[in-house]
Amino acid sequence: MGKKELSALFSANPDKYYKVALFDKVGFQRYKCIQCAKFFWSLVDRTSCPDHEAYGFLGNPPTSKRLDYIDAWKEVKAFFRSNEHTIVNRYPVVCRWRDDLYYTIASIVNFQRVVENKVFFELPANPLVVPQMCVRFNDIENVGLSGRHYTTFCMIGQTCDADAEGGYWKDRCIDLDYQLLTKILGIDPAAITFVEDVWMGAGAFGNSLEYFVNGLELGNAVFTEFEGNENEYRPMKHRIIDMGAGLERFSWITMGTPTSYDCTFGPVINEMMSKTGTALDKEILGSYFRYVSNALERTEVDLRTLKSTFVKEMKISFEDLNRIVNPFEAMYTIADHTRTLLFAISDGSIPSNVGGGYNLRVLLRRALAILERLGWKFDLADIADIHIGYLKRMYPELEEHVKDVRTILQIESNRYLGSKERMNSITSSIKGKKESLSVDDLIRLYESDGITPEYLMESGAIESIPQAFYARLSELHESHQPTHNLKPITGIEELQPTRLLYYEHELMTESDAKILAIVENKYVILDQTIFYPRGGGQEPDTGDIEGTKVLDVTKQNEIVIHKVGSSRGLLPGKKVKIRINPRRRDLITKHHTSTHIMNASARSILGPWVWQNSAFKDEGYARLDITHHSSLTREEIEGIERAANRVVRQDSPVLINTFDRIEAERNYSFRIYQGGVVPSGKVRIVNIKDWDIEACGGTHVNRTGEIGLIKIFRTERIQDGVVRLEFVAGEAAIDYVEKQENQLNAISRVLGASKEKVVESLRRSVDEADETKRKLRAVMRRTLPSVMNSIFKDAKVISSDGIKLFSIHDEELGEDYYISLGETATQNDPYLIFVALIGKGQGVRVITFVGELARKRIKAGDIAQRLSLNLGGSGGGNDAFGQGGGKFKQKIRETISSLEEMISQTIGR
Ligand SMILES: [Zn+2]
Ligand SMILES: [Zn+2]
Repeated sequence: MGKKELSALFSANPDKYYKVALFDKVGFQRYKCIQCAKFFWSLVDRTSCPDHEAYGFLGNPPTSKRLDYIDAWKEVKAFFRSNEHTIVNRYPVVCRWRDDLYYTIASIVNFQRVVENKVFFELPANPLVVPQMCVRFNDIENVGLSGRHYTTFCMIGQTCDADAEGGYWKDRCIDLDYQLLTKILGIDPAAITFVEDVWMGAGAFGNSLEYFVNGLELGNAVFTEFEGNENEYRPMKHRIIDMGAGLERFSWITMGTPTSYDCTFGPVINEMMSKTGTALDKEILGSYFRYVSNALERTEVDLRTLKSTFVKEMKISFEDLNRIVNPFEAMYTIADHTRTLLFAISDGSIPSNVGGGYNLRVLLRRALAILERLGWKFDLADIADIHIGYLKRMYPELEEHVKDVRTILQIESNRYLGSKERMNSITSSIKGKKESLSVDDLIRLYESDGITPEYLMESGAIESIPQAFYARLSELHESHQPTHNLKPITGIEELQPTRLLYYEHELMTESDAKILAIVENKYVILDQTIFYPRGGGQEPDTGDIEGTKVLDVTKQNEIVIHKVGSSRGLLPGKKVKIRINPRRRDLITKHHTSTHIMNASARSILGPWVWQNSAFKDEGYARLDITHHSSLTREEIEGIERAANRVVRQDSPVLINTFDRIEAERNYSFRIYQGGVVPSGKVRIVNIKDWDIEACGGTHVNRTGEIGLIKIFRTERIQDGVVRLEFVAGEAAIDYVEKQENQLNAISRVLGASKEKVVESLRRSVDEADETKRKLRAVMRRTLPSVMNSIFKDAKVISSDGIKLFSIHDEELGEDYYISLGETATQNDPYLIFVALIGKGQGVRVITFVGELARKRIKAGDIAQRLSLNLGGSGGGNDAFGQGGGKFKQKIRETISSLEEMISQTIGR
C-alpha cells in the first residue's frame, strides 16, 4: 500500500478522518475535483480543487491587513500566544540532533529523535508554535526565478501532543487556523478551501488538511496518529498535530506583490537596486512574474518556454524582456542564497567538502557567478548585513554573528576568485573536447580543482548533473572510523548486560568479577568490569584477568568483551581478580578530558563553526579533528594552547550527570552533540565548568588541574574544511617538553653557545656559512684561468682525433667546486672529458662532464654510471653531465687507473 492507497483509505471514511467540527458549524461541504479526483471542502460550490486555480491574490490581496515578513510573524505569534501556545525560539538550521539529516527541513524535525530507526516526538512545550527556518536544496534551479522558491524559508510550526496535558486534536487545530485566516488576516471564509491529503514521515503517518486561499497553499495540518509503515501500523499513544505554514506565503497573500520575494527580503532588494543602478519597469516586471507564478502553479513548465510565450503575448522582444527581468532574477537569487548562508554560518556550518558544507559552497559560488556575469561589484557580506538588520527583530541571535558571517563569506569569495582563472581554462577545454564527462570525472574535477558540476552546467560544459554524483560524493566523505570488531560475536545475546564499574567507581583499578562466558577461547565476558571498552574515539584499557593478559576490549550492545591471547585457566562460573593498567588509564583519561578543553579552546579562538569532526585518545597522545576553513596560523595555535592551559590552571571541576535528553538539549543546546547524536533517551553530560559541555561516555578527570599541561605538537589541514590538532597532556606533555629541552641542549652544545643564545649563535653560523660560500665563489672566479690552464696541460690525449681526459681525486674541495670547474672547462674545450672523484665522509662522489665534440663518442652519464658501479654504488646523467657515487672509498685509486682504459675501449683509439 502506497500513499495513494492510504489516501483512498482515509478519504473512504471522511467523517472519521477529515470532517472537523468547524466544517459542520460553518457549513463547509465536501467536493470531488473533476480534474484530479481529490476531495476538498469549501463554503461555495466548486468543481475543481485549488491546485488548478490561478493566483487570484496577485495585485488584489484578499486580506484586510498588509503585512511584511516580520509583521506577518508578529500577528501569528500574538494570535497563538493569546490561545495558550508557547512560542519557542527557532532551532538551528544545521540539524545536529539527527544523523540522517544535515539541515532542518521542516519544523517537526525539531521535535523528532530517532532511536534504532524509531521516531520519538519530544516537545519542549505543549502546545507550541515555532518560527522555524528550514533549509532545502531540492529546487535550487527555480530559486529567484519562479517567484516563490527558496533555499531557506520560515515554517510556522504549530505543534501539539494531542494526548498530553494542554493538547488538542483536529477540531481545535483547524478551528485555530481558520480563525487566524479570517479574524486576524481578514480573509473572506468563502475564499478558503481545505484539501484532503496524507502525510508520511519517518516511521509515522496520518491524514492531513491543506488549506488554500485564492489558489495559494498557505499551510498543511498533519494529524499524525499511526506509527509503523503503510503495511503494518498501530495507533500512536501520543498523537501529534504538525501544522506547517510558510511565513513567506502569509506575507505574500496580504501584499499581493508579483513575487513572494518582494515582501520577504525587506529592504534587501531595494538596496541592491540602488547599488547596481537597476531600474524598475513595474508594469512589465509585474505582469511577467504574475504570468510565471500562475503558469507554474497550474502545470510543470520550463521557464525558458514560458519566456518565449510571454514575449509573444506581450509583443515585446526577448532582449527587452531579459533587460528588465534578468537583473531582478539575479537579485532575488542572491538575496535568497545570502540569507541561507547567513543562517547556516550563524548556526555553525561552513562551505567545505564535508557533509552539508558542499551545498553551501554551491550556493555561494552560484551567487558569485551571478555577480560576475552581470558585472556587479558589491560584497555578499554587505547583503548579509542588510538581512541581519531586517531579520534581527525576529531572530536577534543573528546579530551576534555579523563578524563570523563576514569572515567566512570573504574567505570563500577570495578562494573562488583565486581559482577562477584555472576553472575557466579547464571548463573551456572540456567544452572543446565535446566528450561527455563521467561521474568519476566530475568527482575528480570537484575534488582536485574545486569545480562544482553546477558551475560546469552554468558555463555550458555539461547538460545536466547526474544524480549519482551526489551519492558518490557523500560516500567519499563519510567518515571512515576504523572498526576493530567487524564480525559480531555470536552466542552472547542472552547474557545479562555487563555492570560498568568504570562509571560507578572511576578510579577503581582492581576488582572481583565472575566469568559468564568464554567464546572461541579468546573472548571473555564478565558480570562486571573495570575495563573501558574502545568507544567514542577512546582507546581501551589493558590489564589482566587472573594473570591472563587482556589485549583488547570492545562493547557489543550492552556487553563488554575482553579479548585475551588464550583463555587457558579461565572457566565460566569462576570468580576472578581483574586489574587494569593504571598508568595507561590515567594517561588516556587526561588526553580524553583535554580533547573537551581543546575543542572549546579552538571554538573560542577560531569561531562558532568549530565542531568536533572526530577524535582519538590514546596513552601517548590525542588527536582532535575540527571543522575550520583554513590552516592554523602560529598565533592561532598558540592562542588555542594558551586558552586550554588557562582552563587547566583554573582547576575547574568536571561534573558528570545524566539527564533526560530533552532537558539536556534545553539546558545546554545542541552543542552537547560534539561526538555525534546520542541514540538514547538519557544523556551523560560532561560539564567542564564555565568552559565546555558535551554528551560523552568516556573517562574524565575530576578537576582540570590534574591534567597538568597540554602541548600541541602538530596541526594540519587534512582536508577542505577539517583541521587536525595533535597534542599531548599530563605526563606525556612533560615528557614531550623534556625531549624538546634535550634537543635544545644538544644544539647548544654543538654550537658552543648557551641555550639563551642558541638562536643568535645559529643565525651567526648560517651567516658565516653564507659568507664562506660567497668567498669561495670569488676565489674560484679569480683563480679559474690558471686552474683551466693546468687542466688543459695535464689532460691526456687518448684518441687520434684529439679527445682528452682529465681526472682528479680530491678530499678537500666539495662537489660544488668541481661542478663549476668541470662545466667551465668542457665549455672551453669541446674535446675534453672531465672526471672528478671526491672523497666524502665514508664514500665517494663522482662528477663527470663531456665536451661537445667528445659527446659524439661517449656520454657523461654512462661514465658516471660505470665508475659508480665500480665504487659499489649507482649513477647516471645526460650526455654532458653525469653524477653518482659509491661506498668503496678504498677503490678510488684502482678506479682512476682503470679509467683511461675504460674510456678508450668505448671510444676506440
Ligand atoms: Zn484537483
Ligand atoms: Zn569525554
